[in-house]
Amino acid sequence: MSNDYYKILGVEKSSSDEDIKKAYRKLAHQYHPDKTGGDEKKFKEINEAYQTLSNKEKRAQYDRFGNTAQGAGGPGGFGGFSQGGFDFQGGDFGDLGDIFETFFNGMGGQQKRRTYAHGSDMEMVQEITLEDAYRGIEKNVTYKTNIHCAQCKGLGHDAKATFSQCKKCDGRGEVRETRSTFFGNFAQVRTCTECHGVGQIPDKRCSSCSGSGVVRGEKKIAVKILPGIADGQIIKMVGAGEAGERGSQEGDLFLHVRVKPHAIFSRQDDHLIIEKEIQLINLLAYFSDSEAHPIYVTTISGGKLALDIPRDFTFNKPFKVTSEGMPHFNRSGKGDLFVHFKIVPPHKMSKDAKRLLEELRNEMR
Ligand SMILES: [Zn+2]
Ligand SMILES: [Zn+2]
Repeated sequence: MSNDYYKILGVEKSSSDEDIKKAYRKLAHQYHPDKTGGDEKKFKEINEAYQTLSNKEKRAQYDRFGNTAQGAGGPGGFGGFSQGGFDFQGGDFGDLGDIFETFFNGMGGQQKRRTYAHGSDMEMVQEITLEDAYRGIEKNVTYKTNIHCAQCKGLGHDAKATFSQCKKCDGRGEVRETRSTFFGNFAQVRTCTECHGVGQIPDKRCSSCSGSGVVRGEKKIAVKILPGIADGQIIKMVGAGEAGERGSQEGDLFLHVRVKPHAIFSRQDDHLIIEKEIQLINLLAYFSDSEAHPIYVTTISGGKLALDIPRDFTFNKPFKVTSEGMPHFNRSGKGDLFVHFKIVPPHKMSKDAKRLLEELRNEMR
């Protein structure tokens, strides 16, 4: 995986919380963007790694699943594939946020000027087959979302526009209003809708997006799903969510991977389980000459495998075929395939068959 958090922090997988903290402090100090020799990208990486590894739950999840698999590709890319219909908006908790912001501001916090609204994160579901999960697959996903306005390149106004002070907010970018809420009345500060918080109004607003810099549109991304992915695992596609107002930061896309149930295999972690019906007579034939009467089992890779069942095998337990299960997501190797035999008696027997069976019984006594 490209972002190995342990590698980024230069620690072992077995490192203690204390060691991780120490490593993080040292590196954060070294790469802080304000310092000479600082490196903003590296600094962000280090922080991301530390946020996960310093949290017990997140670390355990990361150890198990490699966190959220960072999809390759990103925005742009493929066309042609349409999953159709997925367009979940993130919940809008904006109002509640406003209330608390006002509340804390009122308690002597700093009054901070709002910037443009960032793009919201999005969530979508991607269904894949067990075979897809076995091999890994690149899915092209198309969905409706807010995208940057092409006409103004996300600026919201003509490139040569001149500006004048916004009359609605007198150039403050915010308006005050009193709101009654469940908690009582609040004097609330809201971003001015007229100037989008800038305090200035361009003489020529973009006609296509009426000044917000975003329009409704379609995004197409290629998502790389790695072999061994589990049902319910989430892939985070950075920047693939909604576009932000006027070129501000884009949201992320969280793709929930759903592995569809399989017709013949069931999955238990990285092991696969299959039920195999076998006629009693074929079982006897197998043990008489396994090359002439092989017993085959289907594998997830699409092949047929001749089983090598030892003579002393007891059929009341599953037969294990090593490394024919799912690939491990985060390390090399594969799980196993467990074959549950179901031995089927003959439906009906002819007179000849009964006579032959009697002969066989006497022979084998
Ligand atoms: Zn525009
Ligand atoms: Zn205004």
